[in-house]
Amino acid sequence: MATTRIAIAPRMKVARISKPGGDFEIVECETPQPGVGQVLIKVQACGICHSDVLTKEGIWPGIQFPRVPGHEVVGLIQELGELVSEWKLGQRVGVGWHGGQDGTCVSCKRGDFRNCRNLKIPGISYDGGYRQYMVAPVEALAAIPESLSSADAAPLLCAGLTTFNSLRHSGALPGDLVAVQGIGGLGHLGIQYANKFGYKVVAIGRGSANAALAKKLGASVYIDSNAANAAEELQKLGGAQVILATAPSSKAMSKLIDGLGPNGKLIVVGATLDPIEVTPIQLITGSRALQGWSTGTPADSEDTLRFSELTGVRPMIETYPLERAAEGYARMMSGGAQFRVVLTM
Ligand SMILES: [Zn+2]
Ligand SMILES: [Zn+2]
Repeated sequence: MATTRIAIAPRMKVARISKPGGDFEIVECETPQPGVGQVLIKVQACGICHSDVLTKEGIWPGIQFPRVPGHEVVGLIQELGELVSEWKLGQRVGVGWHGGQDGTCVSCKRGDFRNCRNLKIPGISYDGGYRQYMVAPVEALAAIPESLSSADAAPLLCAGLTTFNSLRHSGALPGDLVAVQGIGGLGHLGIQYANKFGYKVVAIGRGSANAALAKKLGASVYIDSNAANAAEELQKLGGAQVILATAPSSKAMSKLIDGLGPNGKLIVVGATLDPIEVTPIQLITGSRALQGWSTGTPADSEDTLRFSELTGVRPMIETYPLERAAEGYARMMSGGAQFRVVLTM
């Protein structure tokens, strides 16, 4: 019988949350074993995403504790569960937000796995990547290209995927005016992808601090929304075909709708709980649209990684060792990180 396992430490370090709103605890646990259709991954890097707040604060309905957060995971396959044939021992793989679909709901029956009604999310539905070893089902795995480091690849599995996939499905064509609101974890990647897609890119940020960086990342215009009315500035440029709203501020998003051109679309990826305000007249005039977007499938992740490899799009990251997960998380929450925080194991 073929080998299905390589040397695995019997115990592992884990950064977990024991109750809603609890602090990170670094504990030692038994290394898990993969079940049928699963693999065991030796985690090398795991990005800290703002959505990890759903785990940390126990906001996700039905979440159970203790729980290990983390859905930007990159590592090496150490053990193959039963009925796993398409992946190899030692292969480097990633796991993003899409942690597995049920295969039976209406969306899945249509092949729309991204919108599976019972989508499993690593770090929420089951333990994620803030640990040394992680079990994941094969339908959650993406292959990582050779030339990307694990720490660089990790944020591309959620922040990269979300901006890449939403923009490529936005309907904007090369040469179109595309604005990226927010120069942060999502936005700094969105600007790069928008530039590589051949759009005329407008970056919108608060203050002038990020103006030079936004241009370096590929924006041809920078709008400081503290100093100018961003919607008016966009109209002076002809109106945006797409505005990718990445900063989690519903107020800021509401103010941008008037910056859309005819048939323009505001795509919302920055997650908040407050309402976005828009009048029917604003949408009817110019047939404008408002759309949300959530990540993608592992195949979309592979497209994101391949495109990034091809074009040189990379996240800007700050790394922390697993033991300092609490510090890394606090850094992400502070909004001061440049721009994605990644745990390394
Ligand atoms: Zn995420
Ligand atoms: Zn489904």
